Amino acid sequence: MIVAIDGPAGSGKSTIARLLAVRLGFRYLDTGAMYRSVAVAALDAGTPLDDPDALGALARAVRISFEHEPGEPLPTRVLLDGRDVTAAIRTPAADRAVSPVSAAAPVRVAMVALQREIGSRADCVLEGRDIGTVVFPDAEVKVYLTATPEERASRRALDRAAAGHEADHAAVLADILRRDTHDSTREASPMRRADDAHVVDTTGLTIEQVVDRVAALVEAAR
Ligand code: C5P
Repeated sequence: MIVAIDGPAGSGKSTIARLLAVRLGFRYLDTGAMYRSVAVAALDAGTPLDDPDALGALARAVRISFEHEPGEPLPTRVLLDGRDVTAAIRTPAADRAVSPVSAAAPVRVAMVALQREIGSRADCVLEGRDIGTVVFPDAEVKVYLTATPEERASRRALDRAAAGHEADHAAVLADILRRDTHDSTREASPMRRADDAHVVDTTGLTIEQVVDRVAALVEAAR
């Protein structure tokens, strides 16, 4: 079974998708981490962010993998060609670079192929922007998570502060709004809700309430 969780930055996708995967005993795939890893590879290699073909070649050349700590149910580390980039993919520089990188059609072709391969191996919860529309349009359960931009910015600022980065609320909100606009207006696989996705507005809901709601949708689809 495929559970597709899409939605904008800070809507709660990662938190919900991870908890749901643990509860269901499914695999979990963070597709944003894959685009972020290509962005880090591009920054490291000095690949021009406005050159889709060069970015595509890079995306095809790098090896992105997810690693489990012993005893952990879900992967906790992201590796780029064997190097741990778990922290590097969450910096403000990576936030800025990921929009142009993920808008490059050749990058998306490479990542979507990998996502389909990983998702097809076992029951899986995948989170991203285009899972229910492009990657797995036949997913058994599609969820589109939303929340107000202010709430999404507050959550991201908390994540950032917890990771030891600067967390100015206004700057985080500006970045979220910029990425929303970029992600939903780009030509290649723009972020949009699948027609058959269940919309869950997480504003004011607890994490547990959201997980319960999505788990109920999965149960109904089984
Ligand atoms: O989910 P996260 O915020 O980590 O994603 C980072 C960026 O990767 C998004 O802003 C978007 O540009 C891109 N992305 C995408 N398609 C996906 C997942 C993420 O374009 N399926």
